[in-house]
Amino acid sequence: MKKILVIHTGGTISMHEADGQILPGDVNPMTHVQLTRFDNIEISSIDLLNLPSPHITPQHMLIIYQELKQKLPYFDGAVITHGTDTLEETAYFLDTLALPDDKPVVLTGAMRSSNELGSDGVYNYRSALRVAADDKAVGKGVLVVMNDEIHAAKYVTKTHTTNVSTFQTPTHGPLGLLTKHDSLYFQTAEARVRFDLSEIKGTIPIIKAYAGMGAGILVLLDSERIDGLVIEALGAGNLPPDAVPYLTDLIAKGTPVILVSRCFNGIAEAVYGYEGGGVALAKAGVMFVKELNSQKARLKLLIALNSGLTGQALKTYIEG
Ligand code: ASP
Repeated sequence: MKKILVIHTGGTISMHEADGQILPGDVNPMTHVQLTRFDNIEISSIDLLNLPSPHITPQHMLIIYQELKQKLPYFDGAVITHGTDTLEETAYFLDTLALPDDKPVVLTGAMRSSNELGSDGVYNYRSALRVAADDKAVGKGVLVVMNDEIHAAKYVTKTHTTNVSTFQTPTHGPLGLLTKHDSLYFQTAEARVRFDLSEIKGTIPIIKAYAGMGAGILVLLDSERIDGLVIEALGAGNLPPDAVPYLTDLIAKGTPVILVSRCFNGIAEAVYGYEGGGVALAKAGVMFVKELNSQKARLKLLIALNSGLTGQALKTYIEG
């Protein structure tokens, strides 16, 4: 018998449709799901939050972490139900924090609410429980299970507004998949640095680069009020030239600036030597984040700063 901790946090999986609108309710339908086929799973569930995921903040993620840290030692694994809009961010956050051991921690959600035709909530919930109770999932890091696929928290992203196969892992592909009776893993989890935090604060905006951006929106940022900046740069990691002096000034004032690519696939690297190109940006002190999307890179910097990393230690972690 496997003991699985379930933490509900809200999202479409907990909502229902009424008069053409998707709405949160007082009672989470997942708490009434009878999973009779899971004779070998004992579920202990907590309604920790009941939030649409656009309302989720890093402070909420920390509450989920603290709950897991305290309770996971008494279970074989955990499932967290969550709205899909920011699910990848909570998954990455938990994967970067120091959960007590290597037990499976699985996030899931739904694209269709509980009473909509073809609702995927119960199915995904059941799949997440299967993975959380599976010895093969031990040591794989925090996982996202949706639509029969098992994804690593580090890379998975929501790619479609409504389709049930919205969660994908660009560049790498999923870690594994669920069949009717089994689970298959194609890849192992990567080694990673993990942090224990008791509070999280800071303001780190994300700016997306675009053709003709110039210094544009950058000059509107009040450098006194931000703790760091994430730039979603063009291609391999390049910016329109007018952006460079502003970023150089910001870095000189001690504000860390990190860069990811706005491309869906691939890795940001300092490749081009022209004005505004990645080589000049790296020389100016911009730190390149390999492979993460901007919303996860933002959490990486936030966690690093809240852990007290500065200077070379910060650069090594951010670029590692
Ligand atoms: N907007 C919803 C949320 O993230 C979408 C979902 O749950 O799938 O809460």
